[in-house]
Amino acid sequence: MPVSGLPPYDENNIFARILRGEIPCKKVYEDAFALAFLDIAPQAPTHVLVIPKGPYCSFADFSAFASDADIAGFMRAVGKIAKDLGLEAPGYRLLANMGEHSGQEVPHFHVHLFAGRPLGRMIPG
Ligand code: 5GP
Repeated sequence: MPVSGLPPYDENNIFARILRGEIPCKKVYEDAFALAFLDIAPQAPTHVLVIPKGPYCSFADFSAFASDADIAGFMRAVGKIAKDLGLEAPGYRLLANMGEHSGQEVPHFHVHLFAGRPLGRMIPG
């Protein structure tokens, strides 16, 4: 379900097509709640995208309408991926863009996982 004022979920967005297996991805993790794969244009030595399996346009949509079980499962998956990739000791950054001012390009909720070097200021510029 879309958040009021936002467009409805686009079943043909690129991440929906990746979830359906219509477009390949470099998968790093999958469970009942989440799929994680390498970003096609990495902005850090490690740049993983983690997406929920349900049709949520954005963080606003996901946080408002996903079930408690789906939210918990997704967040646990993000933590497990970072841990399994060995990122906890050096550290990592999570980022979720939502809407126009954030620059969100793909209208399927996703969390960016950045790591592999000191990541600098949170919001450059
Ligand atoms: P956003 O700006 O929406 O938060 O981030 C979208 C991300 O998706 C970008 O970092 C972009 O590089 C990535 N991306 C766009 N298309 C594809 C694709 O087809 N495959 C993969 N793996 N990543 C993609």
